[in-house]
Amino acid sequence: MGGTPTDLKLIDERGLRIDGRRPDEMRPLRIEAGVLKRADGSAYVEWGQNKVMAAVYGPRECHPRHLQNPERALVQCNYNMASFSVEDRKRPGPDRRSHEISKIISEALTHVVFTEYFPRTSIDVYIEVLQANAGTRCAGLTAASVALADAGVPMKDLVAACAAGKVADTVVLDLGKEEDNSGQADIPLGYVPRTGEIVLLQMDGDLSPEEFDKGVRMAIDACRKVSEIQRDALKRRYSASSADVDAAQAVPEMPKEGP
Ligand code: ADP
Repeated sequence: MGGTPTDLKLIDERGLRIDGRRPDEMRPLRIEAGVLKRADGSAYVEWGQNKVMAAVYGPRECHPRHLQNPERALVQCNYNMASFSVEDRKRPGPDRRSHEISKIISEALTHVVFTEYFPRTSIDVYIEVLQANAGTRCAGLTAASVALADAGVPMKDLVAACAAGKVADTVVLDLGKEEDNSGQADIPLGYVPRTGEIVLLQMDGDLSPEEFDKGVRMAIDACRKVSEIQRDALKRRYSASSADVDAAQAVPEMPKEGP
C-alpha cells in the first residue's frame, strides 16, 4: 500500500482497472485437485498470475512429541515463496512474512478441521508459491483446503479466500500486483460458506467503516464463487476414471501467459 503515484492510472475513465477488470471482478481462478502422487492430498491453483501448490500429509504422529495435544490434532501450515516466484529473486528460506502467513492459514484451517477426531497427531500443510502476483495467502488457503479434502481430512466445510481493497478511492475485489503496490488498502478474507464464519481477516491500509463493510461484502460474495470452483475441482477429481486420476497426478498443463 504505497499511495497512488500520479503516473499510474489504477482506474480509467470507464471505471475499469489496470488489467481491464470491473471493480467487483475477480481474476480468473483454476483449481486442480490431486496433482501430487506422494502427498496424502494436494491441489494446484492458478489465480490470475499466481501459481500455488498445496500438499497435505497426515494426520500422522506429531513430532516433536511435546507439541502433541492429547485431545486434538495440530494443523501446521508451512507457507513458502520460491526464490523464482517474484521479479527480483527472493532470498530463500523463512522470514517474518512467511511465518505470519503460515500462522494465519494454520489458524483458519484449524477452525474447519474436526481436529478432535485425531488426538496427538499433526496434519501438515505445505504451501509452495511458484509464481506470485499479490493475493498469494488467499490462493494458498484456497489451495490448502482443497488439498485437505483431497487427503480425506474431515472438515465442516472448505475455506474459501479472496481479498478486497481500495485503489484510486474505489473499493475493488482481488487486487493484482500493481494495485497492491500502489493502492490504498487490502483486506484478505477467509470464509466458511456453510457456517458464514470469517476465519481469516487482515487489513493493510486505510478504509472508512463504510468502505470496509463494502469490501468485506464483496470478498464474501467472491468466496462463495471460489467455493464452487473448489467443489468442482474435487468433483472432477473423484468422478474421473482411474486413468484420468493418473493423468491428473501429472502437473497440469500451463495455459499461455498473458502479455
Ligand atoms: P499476498 O501475496 O498474500 O498479497 P503480500 O501483500 O505480503 O501478500 O504481498 C503481495 C505481493 O508482493 C506478493 O504476492 C508478491 O507478488 C510480492 N512479494 C511479497 N514478498 C516479496 C518479496 N520478498 N520479494 C518480492 N516480492 C514480494
